[in-house]
Amino acid sequence: MPHPDNLAARCEAGTVWFVGAGPGDPDLITVKGRDLIARAGAVLFAGSLVNKAATRWAPAGCTIADSKDMTLEQIAGWLVEQAGQHETVVRLQTGDPALYGTLIEVVQPLDAAGVLVRVVPGVSSAMASAAAAVESFTLPELTQTVIFTRMAGRTPMPAGESLDALARHGCTICIFLSITLLGQVVRDLRAGGWAEDAPILVVHKASWPGEEKIVRGTLADIAQRCRDERIVSQAMIIASPALGARDWPELTKSKLYDARFTHRFRRASVPPGPTPETTT
Ligand code: SAH
Repeated sequence: MPHPDNLAARCEAGTVWFVGAGPGDPDLITVKGRDLIARAGAVLFAGSLVNKAATRWAPAGCTIADSKDMTLEQIAGWLVEQAGQHETVVRLQTGDPALYGTLIEVVQPLDAAGVLVRVVPGVSSAMASAAAAVESFTLPELTQTVIFTRMAGRTPMPAGESLDALARHGCTICIFLSITLLGQVVRDLRAGGWAEDAPILVVHKASWPGEEKIVRGTLADIAQRCRDERIVSQAMIIASPALGARDWPELTKSKLYDARFTHRFRRASVPPGPTPETTT
């Protein structure tokens, strides 16, 4: 099959733009995504997940549809049909389109129909959850790795990706789609070596105006705390040795702003200390 990126001649049919709508706050869409909606002839959004407010940028006369009751075939069919009528068609995806969405499943039939496809990234709910709680996923000499994962649901986990195996890395882990399985998440983290007092963060509806809830706990009590707050959907579970660092008296600071180090943009203002010189 010829790749549609090379088919400039087909440009008279419209382009379907998969746009990351962001995590919920309609202001967290990118400027590029908003501009595309503002000139779209048709917009398809997933009403069960995407804040409908994101469609408020659409021009008068724009065809706006909710995909929540559509099958995959109907979604692809709708997009192909609209691309035949409009230059710009937008498929709004929650957060970033590259994470736990149906991007590839929908792009394949569009490719087969010769419809041009482009993707605009979005703010993932993982990032919005960190922002909500004023947390950093990475801290020098503590953790420099972030895992995005989920528990097995109807979608099984591939070999080697079970949470207890991933948990052994001890790095930051963002767990999507798993709040109803929080008990199992806790058991897997424990099996992966996390201590009972390890901090765990759950953010429900991160960035949704007036609906966001932040629950902090430990491996031992996070499940009960989430039950108390009745959090049963749309939540990010974050396990990380960096959680709560805002309140720590001692912090290993980034080398980038360390007065002892010289790098591309700044000369050291005090002599280098005992630690080896690095740039970041
Ligand atoms: N592509 C999306 C993820 C879609 S999967 C993204 O990048 O964020 C849906 C899961 O994402 C939910 O089960 C939940 O775990 C998480 N999620 C989506 N929106 C959220 C929000 N506003 N706050 C917390 N978690 C959210």
